Amino acid sequence: MTTKHRLAIYPGTFDPITNGHIDIIERASVLFDEVVVALATNSQKTPLFSEAERLSLVNAALLERLPTRTNIRADAFQGLLVDYAVRLDAVAMVRGLRALSDFEYEFQMALMNRKLADGISTVFLMPHEQYTYLNSTIIRELAKYHRGVEEFVPNCVSQALRKKFEVRP
Ligand code: ADP
Repeated sequence: MTTKHRLAIYPGTFDPITNGHIDIIERASVLFDEVVVALATNSQKTPLFSEAERLSLVNAALLERLPTRTNIRADAFQGLLVDYAVRLDAVAMVRGLRALSDFEYEFQMALMNRKLADGISTVFLMPHEQYTYLNSTIIRELAKYHRGVEEFVPNCVSQALRKKFEVRP
């Protein structure tokens, strides 16, 4: 008997990818046959990093932090997440739950996505406690004011942030 290849999508803006995201990706890679880290390109937000920069940072971060996990890849998508998930024949969409504050928005999205594609479940994973207060907005803010972010993001990301906010003569 053949079992279905269980592909999960981990969607987000990843502006930039942080250790909290990496933690979730690693947990998902244990649960699913394949994990696609899916960069949303039509977000309402105006990102600090371009789509190409964010995708290359996700790839560099995966290489740096999870080099032995061969079942993870990164991709970018446009349009509705469920349409993309159906196209990839995904069985699940993974989201990270840090605190109660994440819950309401995530709950709404999960229910709407289930209405649109009943066969694709949203799976919530909790990161290690040390990452519960971490988000990309805080990282961008710290880097903007030249504070070190090394303990919160992969090296490739802290380097990219330093470059972005470099004070040029
Ligand atoms: P979005 O812009 O859709 O919120 P993000 O790139 O911010 O996308 O995050 C993608 C997913 O990762 C979301 O489910 C978010 O809750 C989760 N996430 C973000 N930061 C962390 C973290 N520090 N720990 C666990 N999950 C996180």
